[in-house]
Amino acid sequence: MRRKLVVGNWKMNGNRATNAELLAGLKAAGPWVAEVAVCVPSPYLGDVALSLQGEAIGWGAQDVSAYESGAYTGEVSAAMLAEFGCRYALAGHSERRAYHAESDQAVADKAKAALAHRITPIVCVGETLAEREADQTAAVVKRQLSAVIHTLGHCISQIVVAYEPVWAIGTGKTASPEQAQAVHALLRAQLKAATEHADTMKILYGGSVKADNAATLFAQPDIDGGLIGGASLKAGDFAAICRAAG
Ligand code: PEP
Repeated sequence: MRRKLVVGNWKMNGNRATNAELLAGLKAAGPWVAEVAVCVPSPYLGDVALSLQGEAIGWGAQDVSAYESGAYTGEVSAAMLAEFGCRYALAGHSERRAYHAESDQAVADKAKAALAHRITPIVCVGETLAEREADQTAAVVKRQLSAVIHTLGHCISQIVVAYEPVWAIGTGKTASPEQAQAVHALLRAQLKAATEHADTMKILYGGSVKADNAATLFAQPDIDGGLIGGASLKAGDFAAICRAAG
């Protein structure tokens, strides 16, 4: 049986005081049966690493450079993240694909760089509303995952995949459990063709997950937890979602 994983994506929110309050609330609310982690803005990685030392809550970055080191102003390397004990790094969140023109190959290269430093990449895939309406969902997510499979080879089994329909992120529109499960099953089948370990791999759902819809989403056979944006900013809401994954 796969242990569920719930990851909060704080995006570009918070400050040192609100982060401390949020983490204190989470620490008081746990532990959970599910594995729990938060992906935080880079400047706060050190604070969060210290605050979560010895806690059952993991932490990660929201992005990672594909490059090892050098003249890449503004980038943060996997080696730097690893030095702090970073466990996860998001790769290819739709906001990065859309606003920073990250290609499928760039995302795959980021996943490879993370793995080289024992950081688990959480590779995000998902279709836009226009793509869903044009019946392109399967083709789009397959293309996005395929680049990662080709780049990582047998190491593909070490990643976490997050299916995040772009039309559901931050919009309050959630994919129905059936819609999400259908895509997760497609992704699992694609992984099965690439690795014999696909049944142990986690595929998270993300897109307006809230305390009141989490349990039915997480009850789907191929949904192994969630990537949570807005609802991860309030300890009570996020803790309730983590409980729903138990
Ligand atoms: C996300 O940012 O990955 C996300 C799923 O956001 P939200 O939960 O706010 O839709």
